[in-house]
Amino acid sequence: MSQERVVNVFSDTIAEMTWFEVDQAAKDGAILLWSFGVIEQHGPHLPCGTDVYIPQARLRETKKILAERGIQALIVPPYYWGINVVSGAFPASYKVRPEIMVELMSDLFDSFKGDGFGRVFCFSGHGDRLHNLTIFEGIKKGVERTGMDISFVSDTALLLRLGIPLNDPKVTVHKAGSGKLFGALTSSPSAFDEDDDAPPKFIDVHAGQWETSMMLCSCPDLVHDEVRRGLLSTDFGPEDLDEWRKGFEHARAKTPQGYLGDPAAASLEEGRRSLRLSAERAADAIEERVKQRAQSVR
Ligand SMILES: [Zn+2]
Repeated sequence: MSQERVVNVFSDTIAEMTWFEVDQAAKDGAILLWSFGVIEQHGPHLPCGTDVYIPQARLRETKKILAERGIQALIVPPYYWGINVVSGAFPASYKVRPEIMVELMSDLFDSFKGDGFGRVFCFSGHGDRLHNLTIFEGIKKGVERTGMDISFVSDTALLLRLGIPLNDPKVTVHKAGSGKLFGALTSSPSAFDEDDDAPPKFIDVHAGQWETSMMLCSCPDLVHDEVRRGLLSTDFGPEDLDEWRKGFEHARAKTPQGYLGDPAAASLEEGRRSLRLSAERAADAIEERVKQRAQSVR
């Protein structure tokens, strides 16, 4: 989480490496980490690339933890032309057809295979149901086409919401948490563990306390801090969330400013804690899968 240099979505990814370095990493058996965000409105205080910046920060942290455990990982430049249903009626919230995303993913998996990589871990940066189902479709297609070990790194609650079986070989399941991260994707109280803070009083799913905290930690210069301090919390429960999730004009009517949650309650400390925890949990699950598969090969 060093702040010495300008952090952008290419930081610490393959885009900053030479081909010689990438080639060597593939020969050394490095795994790939790839996030799937979207460009989407995030209220009056956060940039539209929030769902790209946050997962990239998480992957940088995950990569570091894996390296400490002897697992070399490269980060693929982020995917960011995704699917917006909820924010679909707001400006600067772009959507592509799911089949386009699936085909693009499939071509890139094929390129990774051509480079000699064998294992890809995919992460979501965006809670939209259709976006996440499409990531999973792309993974399925990638596995069929390349035979690589490709999986969706996710907590249980999101998989349940998507109807994906927890024992599917194309998922790498990790413990829930940092509470609000996966609460953000699911709003399910089961997404909160014992060791987390109590769930917030009202639902906080979009550009609210959790997401704003993550941005204060990973890209502070992009947060309009004066604005966010003055924003009132929304006071929504599960029924409001269902209405909001219908998307497009329903969501725009429900949250005219574009956020659902409590941005003013965000803090740098919470962001640091959430980022670290979410990276550790991803690293734990990845490490377990890598070791299991190594054993089954022996
Ligand atoms: Zn977001």
